[in-house]
Amino acid sequence: MAIRNIVKKGDSVLEKHSRPVTEFNGRLHTLLDDMTETLIDSGGVGLAAPQVGVLRRVVLVIETNVPDGKEEQVIELINPEIIEQEGEQTGPEGCLSFPGKYGIVTRPNRVKVRAQDRNGNFFEIEGEALTARCFCHEIDHLEGILFPQRAERMLTQEEINAEDD
Ligand code: ZN
Repeated sequence: MAIRNIVKKGDSVLEKHSRPVTEFNGRLHTLLDDMTETLIDSGGVGLAAPQVGVLRRVVLVIETNVPDGKEEQVIELINPEIIEQEGEQTGPEGCLSFPGKYGIVTRPNRVKVRAQDRNGNFFEIEGEALTARCFCHEIDHLEGILFPQRAERMLTQEEINAEDD
């Protein structure tokens, strides 16, 4: 496994459309393993392949809604699609490609995603609250959509400092 460089805003790769994964081979597994290491190292909650410069429909989301004492789980989603959504949440959102920037973004409060695992098997998974926000944010990356485009406004530095306190 290796930590990959995270592409930052201004790089046009982030605005491109990612292609579906058709081969569930060792190359994909290496990408997933590297992305997992990169995500854990970054301290973020989600990462999309275009953020490591790979225009393929691959995302990782950390399920943070786990019972006390249980480990947070990295969910691998290949060719993910949102098939159901419910409710609404409005709150601050950031991105590993936009260090130090946050915006107020409205997302569904619950989503159901259909995706494939690293071996090509289809599965469905639900997420609520931060996990739902993260599914939406990461899947947007596959369309080249970045969170400032979804934000009703960006937070000021004062507001960010206040949140840190
Ligand atoms: Zn992002």
